[in-house]
Amino acid sequence: MNFDLTPEQDQLRDAVRALGRKYGHGYFVEKARAGAHTTELWQEAGRLGYLGVNIPTEYGGGGGGITELAIVCEELAAAGCPLLLLVVSPAIAATVINKHGTDEQRKRHLPGLADGSQKIVFAITEPEAGSNFHRLGTVARRDGDDWLLTGRKCYISGVDEAGHVLVVARTEDSSTGKLKPALFIVPTDAPGLEKSKLDMEILSPENQFLLYLDDVRLPADALVGESLDAGLPALFAGLNPERITVAAMGAGTGRYAVERASEYTATRKVWGGRSIGTHQGVAHPLAHAAVQVELARLMIHKAATLYDAGRDLEAGVAGNMAKYAAGEAAALAVDTAVQALGGAGMTTEYGVATLLGAVRAGRIAPVSREMILNFVAQHVLGQDKSY
Ligand SMILES: Cc1cc2nc3c(=O)[nH]c(=O)nc-3n(C[C@H](O)[C@H](O)[C@H](O)COP(=O)(O)OP(=O)(O)OC[C@H]3O[C@@H](n4cnc5c(N)ncnc54)[C@H](O)[C@@H]3O)c2cc1C
Repeated sequence: MNFDLTPEQDQLRDAVRALGRKYGHGYFVEKARAGAHTTELWQEAGRLGYLGVNIPTEYGGGGGGITELAIVCEELAAAGCPLLLLVVSPAIAATVINKHGTDEQRKRHLPGLADGSQKIVFAITEPEAGSNFHRLGTVARRDGDDWLLTGRKCYISGVDEAGHVLVVARTEDSSTGKLKPALFIVPTDAPGLEKSKLDMEILSPENQFLLYLDDVRLPADALVGESLDAGLPALFAGLNPERITVAAMGAGTGRYAVERASEYTATRKVWGGRSIGTHQGVAHPLAHAAVQVELARLMIHKAATLYDAGRDLEAGVAGNMAKYAAGEAAALAVDTAVQALGGAGMTTEYGVATLLGAVRAGRIAPVSREMILNFVAQHVLGQDKSY
């Protein structure tokens, strides 16, 4: 068992940490409040190679794995910049295209994803289907060589920042019953594709959208892979990277919150000469949160290691557990930090309450805690599926 990062991974972690601190949580909040994006940070991370760490070198990436991308997600979040689009663009879209796209799709899209000049977001969730992907109603039908896509998607992150969206649809001949998915790389300016921004109670420079697809015409090569058979493995290929990187983002956010609060409670004095952190009623909840965050980090490390070793099934279990643990730990850490800071915890200046919405959402998306518990009950505990 090895708990150490390699020297290269250590260097990556230190370098990403330095970049994250250069921008910091103040920058993240300022962009969010202004309705702007963290473009400068994204572009600099891309130039430095951090957005493409998991993309093969032949397409301009770093040739690493999800372990490296998880380091990038965690360290930026630990610096107060939890970037959700790292989860959709480099983690999901780049993995799906790299593993299941055609040669032409890899050549066209991966270099831009690697240097950050291109973002591809991901659209699976639908208003009627929710957590039940078998009910997906976005249908792809053939029209000559072309495809026509019709349906609705919701909560799709970053559509306003991306050149393409990876849409999960089903083919017309399988429009009911067990899902036979087909994935399409759709330009965000395609005629027939409309977006409408959702008002969310999350302070974030990244936005969520409703998407309406009305006979969006796509050429044959918009379909991910050589044939419709690529759909199911392509969809599954994105799941483990998604869970592992979103967990890393949660763990980083938890670290950030515990650090902010610990700095504060070690110096704040309201009862004479002793800091409030001397009181166990203040220090123990923070210590408890630190334990939960560290446990989640261990599971993330295990999941990423299994995934990078090609042990997908085991990585699926570990990745789901890591996502669950990190989602809970991040929410606990931010809430505990707010409490430890007292009134200061609710100010913008101290930069912890600004994360309350994001960590709350982390227990729902991209996969809810209940759906993970269903997965664990079924696949680890051998229980019958209840739905
Ligand atoms: C900030 C944010 C960003 C997002 N970004 C994206 C994105 O980029 N792309 C994308 O496709 N989607 C995105 N989503 C959508 C997200 O993946 C879904 O919200 C999530 O999968 C839950 O689906 P739902 O909201 O329809 O909830 P529902 O399925 O309606 O579920 C509601 C509640 O019931 C519970 N529940 C449902 N079924 C069961 C069951 N069988 N057993 C126990 N409990 C159950 C759920 O856990 C949940 O608590 C985003 C969501 C948020 C909040």
